[in-house]
Amino acid sequence: MVWIGIDDTDSKDGGCTTYICYTIVRKLIENGIDIIGYPRLVRLNPNIPWKTRGNGAVAIRAGRGNGREILIGEFEGEKLFAFTNGSDDVDIAMIENTVKEEVEKQAFLADEKTNPGFVITRKKFDSTIYEQGVKDVLHLNDVIEVLNHAGAVYKGYKNGRGLIGAAAAISWEPGDKTYELISYRYREKWGKERDVEEESVIKMDKTINSTFDNYDYEEKRVLITPNSPCPILFGIRGDKPCDLIKAKEIVISENYMGWMIYETNQGTDDHLQRKKISEVKPYQSVIIEGTVDREPFTIEGGHVIFSIGDETGSIDCTAYEPTKGFRDIIRKLKKGDRVEVYGGVREKPFTINIEKIRIKNLSTVRVKVENPVCEKCGIHMKSMGKGKGYRCKRCGSTKDEKDARYEILDRDLKEGFYEVPPCARRHLSKPLKRMVC
Ligand code: ATP
Repeated sequence: MVWIGIDDTDSKDGGCTTYICYTIVRKLIENGIDIIGYPRLVRLNPNIPWKTRGNGAVAIRAGRGNGREILIGEFEGEKLFAFTNGSDDVDIAMIENTVKEEVEKQAFLADEKTNPGFVITRKKFDSTIYEQGVKDVLHLNDVIEVLNHAGAVYKGYKNGRGLIGAAAAISWEPGDKTYELISYRYREKWGKERDVEEESVIKMDKTINSTFDNYDYEEKRVLITPNSPCPILFGIRGDKPCDLIKAKEIVISENYMGWMIYETNQGTDDHLQRKKISEVKPYQSVIIEGTVDREPFTIEGGHVIFSIGDETGSIDCTAYEPTKGFRDIIRKLKKGDRVEVYGGVREKPFTINIEKIRIKNLSTVRVKVENPVCEKCGIHMKSMGKGKGYRCKRCGSTKDEKDARYEILDRDLKEGFYEVPPCARRHLSKPLKRMVC
């Protein structure tokens, strides 16, 4: 089959690379080219500063289809099908024309931050570009070298950076994967308020168990609708494509142009790498195991910071204000707790932006409840300063620190995994609902 990758076409003012993908799929089918498998929505490194929003790129597999037919979408009432297998016996020039036309027609080229790119190749690149693209920073020159080596057809607009995401999306080799059904609005609705009934989203969430991140019950917020002026009406995420079709039927909304199902790396934790503290670099996403060595405190803006240490160093971890109630869990951590922190590494300030935490072992915290009593005078002794013991005010006799009465603190916290609420979740973060803990 032939691989098509596209990225970096939209801007904060509008547009959407998945919408371009949707129109290309429809045009290719119209021109007699078959789609193989679901189109792919591939999220890349969430910490890249030059992303527009969710750092997503798309990949389409096209060719001469064989095998089983699968329903992948609908365009103005017309069903869109793909095949489970296919050959590459198709005219690349015709694919190129379709892709080029749609990208040039729809990309927000006037936005200085939009640098589109598309790649078409018969030879798939090995997964290292994806692995680096989702976990680290890629350099355009290295990507172009791979494209040339594979004999790919490609075009980068302006600084050409979109080629990075386009190539990385093609190179994704799904291990774990999920699906997203995205519905698209009629053009005249773009930029206007979305009409999606909240109650119906709750009903859908409660009915179709294989979906996730539809609704935030704590914040009472619908999560399937984006906040940007893009063509998307809603996106429903889940583990089973057939359930997503049922789920969309439950959602009551304005009429829409159509929908398409994407195979995606959302909710897979593909971005995370296990590291020792001394190896952590900005823009990576990491899993660090360590011991709390500075207890949590809250700074202006409501962000909660603590630090953990391992044998190689110590690092700050932050639960930012948008993580809402998750911060209450973090505030309960105490020195000596053994934890595993999952999150993206910020450069300034250098800290881990926590996505999830696993509390592996709670330390035993003793709290002093009573100063020692002087045996001679029968009164409570006074502290002589931290760690310095106690002295009786009346007779001057002394006692050790250990002679005070201590109780074990009720930690009001259990060992196990805790995650940020769905409204603060990154696209790539695996919800606990999908984890076998
Ligand atoms: P869009 O919907 O347009 O794709 P977005 O939020 O996904 O918006 P982009 O506008 O695509 O973000 O911007 C991300 C840019 O960063 C793209 O040009 C992409 O090629 C590039 N990029 C993505 N991942 C990496 C990476 N790991 N290293 C270097 N560049 C990257």
